[in-house]
Amino acid sequence: AAKTAGRNAVRFFDPRMQAAVTARAAMENDLRKALAEDQFRLYYQVQVGQGGQAIGAEVLIRWQHPERGLVMPGEFIPLAEETGQILAIGLWVLRTACLQLRHWEDDPARAHLQLAVNVSARQFRQGDFVDQVFAVLNETGARADRLKLELTESMALDNVQQTITKMNALRALGVGFSMDDFGTGQSSLSYLTRLPLDQLKIDQSFVRNIGIQETDALIVQTIIGMAQSLGIDVIAEGVETTAQREFLAQHGCSLWQGYLFSRPVPLENFEQLMAQRYAANG
Ligand code: C2E
Ligand code: MG
Ligand code: MG
Ligand code: MG
Repeated sequence: AAKTAGRNAVRFFDPRMQAAVTARAAMENDLRKALAEDQFRLYYQVQVGQGGQAIGAEVLIRWQHPERGLVMPGEFIPLAEETGQILAIGLWVLRTACLQLRHWEDDPARAHLQLAVNVSARQFRQGDFVDQVFAVLNETGARADRLKLELTESMALDNVQQTITKMNALRALGVGFSMDDFGTGQSSLSYLTRLPLDQLKIDQSFVRNIGIQETDALIVQTIIGMAQSLGIDVIAEGVETTAQREFLAQHGCSLWQGYLFSRPVPLENFEQLMAQRYAANG
């Protein structure tokens, strides 16, 4: 016992450990002020359809930190989830995206654009999540059918029946659902097929290995086939090369997102991109 205590004591005073704890506390503290101080930014990454037209964008959050510069979501979303701050942050993202949809609605060149919003597990699990989305749509005046919510496998399978109920309530309004990072979870396919999804999103880890690793190319084909048999859309994320795009198109996936088309960019740049490269040709 003395030995265990000793080891714990050593660990406790490990300076690296101590530094990590301090950094985390600082980040947590900064994160708490970030919303009030308007430090979050939304970046837009175009989603492209078969004919090369823009169908919309995924909105991806960044944190413009006063000292650290632009902080990527991988560095603060997990912490925000742990502390619960993700609830307020997620609501801000949703509201900001819906406000943008409402602005575009008055612009014939942009009124068709959809926005895909990432929803964290903790956010979706809230008892009043459906009411929150409903309220944001009402407040902003955004069209529900321009909004797509991205869920992840793990959260959807948390409580399947409740997930289905919530999804159906929102779908009745016109909101769409995409299963993000599809293929990476450990979920059973039979559960997944029960979910009222509009879209599967092939994870970029598989897309990256098209032409490199045979099994991943096969997984991509399998996911596309699944979407087809479920009668829903399939989009690929992380498309970086024309070879990847062509493979996807050949196998029946004609919705794409990735650096090949554009990186995620601030609103002004996204709107420029729309005007220059993706002018509606209808
Ligand atoms: P995700 O939803 O799977 O988003 C895709 C990530 O892949 C984004 O990283 C995007 O910038 C990156 N990406 C897009 N195209 C390419 C490509 O061609 N190549 C490569 N290598 N990467 C590409 P990002 O922006 O760092 O976001 C990371 C994750 O953070 C997201 O993964 C999502 O899970 C989470 N996230 C982002 N914004 C939000 C948000 O508003 N709310 C929540 N809850 N999570 C968010
Ligand atoms: Mg996503
Ligand atoms: Mg994804
Ligand atoms: Mg991903």
